[in-house]
Amino acid sequence: MHTKKNEKMTNVSQLISQLSPSETLLMSQKSNELKARGVDVLNLSVGEPDFHTPDHIKEAAVKAIHDNYSFYSPVNGYPALRQAIADKLERDSRLTYSPNHIVVSNGAKQSVCNALLSIVNPGDEVIVPAPYWVSYVEMVKMTGGSGVIVSTSIDNHYKMTALQLSKAITPRTKALILCSPSNPTGSVYTKHELASLASVLEEYPDIYIISDEIYEHINYMSEHASIAQFPELRDRVILINGVSKAYAMTGWRIGYMAAPEHIAKACNKLQGQYTSGPCSVSQQAALAALTGPQDCVREMREAFRRRRDLVMQCCNEIPGLAANMPQGAFYIFPKCDSFFGKRAMSSTVTDSASLSMYLLERAHVATVGGAAFGAPDCFRISYAASEKILIEAMARIGGALAILV
Ligand code: PMP
Ligand code: GLU
Repeated sequence: MHTKKNEKMTNVSQLISQLSPSETLLMSQKSNELKARGVDVLNLSVGEPDFHTPDHIKEAAVKAIHDNYSFYSPVNGYPALRQAIADKLERDSRLTYSPNHIVVSNGAKQSVCNALLSIVNPGDEVIVPAPYWVSYVEMVKMTGGSGVIVSTSIDNHYKMTALQLSKAITPRTKALILCSPSNPTGSVYTKHELASLASVLEEYPDIYIISDEIYEHINYMSEHASIAQFPELRDRVILINGVSKAYAMTGWRIGYMAAPEHIAKACNKLQGQYTSGPCSVSQQAALAALTGPQDCVREMREAFRRRRDLVMQCCNEIPGLAANMPQGAFYIFPKCDSFFGKRAMSSTVTDSASLSMYLLERAHVATVGGAAFGAPDCFRISYAASEKILIEAMARIGGALAILV
């Protein structure tokens, strides 16, 4: 249908019309807008470390600028960075990859999307255990495939069982997305639990596994386990990681995948047509992060552990909230459905989105409603903020929830 000459064009593609905006980024934007108007908002919505990027990484970036890293890089990233990523995977996970298996992208977000765009055809199904990170299902939509959601419960620490996985598989299943440590629940799959999922997947050699390990280093329990460590699955695991969370580098936009060579080639082709290689200076910073001293990673993890303990203690003292003990990442994801249907003055809490909005308006604390994570009876609190802010925020949340009747 043609629009009249002076009529404003507002029609966007079907893809964009059916895509939901990122709820994490939306809540953070709302919180920043309120802050700009002078409101004292505590932003626990978006998940990003509040630490500054360590100095040695910043210095490597400054040096890269002076050394004229101002040209296009290879589309899949500088060979030295891809080698450093391969070395890191060997060092930390005993996984052997060559630089040909690695593709560096503008953040792990792009790496996940590249992976899906490279393997999923319209009509294919991708299994996504819920609660899931907000972008997975929307990315699956971009491919024309459909997400098959497997709901997990607090009783099983929000982890999918082998039985649940096998029931979700159909002849149309193309991939499974696993995220451990998990955003938003903080759950961490043990090697043993991964083994039981692997034994199901072994029976289905055509299913890819996209393993999002961006929170690898923020694990309070045990050594990080990757599903790529099971040799029988190795040729169909697409391992995703990056420097955003472990090195406090969210704004630098460097993520990567380690994948079978044909997938790495496919992503190289894809990236070559729509983004080219990621920022040259950021890649040099990421190289310094991966090859330099790792004490900063340990220090930040210990700070996150103290914050987790603090926030969980506060959460357990608030009647009506129930959260699992997160074992990794930097989120708590309490159930809040006991407040649905309650009111305070002109506000009524009907669901987790309205609860999150109520907390923003009433307590000036930004969180994210659970629906966008596939868990509408929960809401997410990011504890990647200082202890002082967390104490104040949890007191405000407790106060605002206490007056709901
Ligand atoms: N995966 C998960 C589970 C995340 O929480 C995030 C959040 N940033 C990403 C991927 C993307 O990370 P980035 O693009 O900053 O590397
Ligand atoms: N991954 C972070 C979060 O879940 C950053 C925001 C985003 O990329 O969605 O809050």
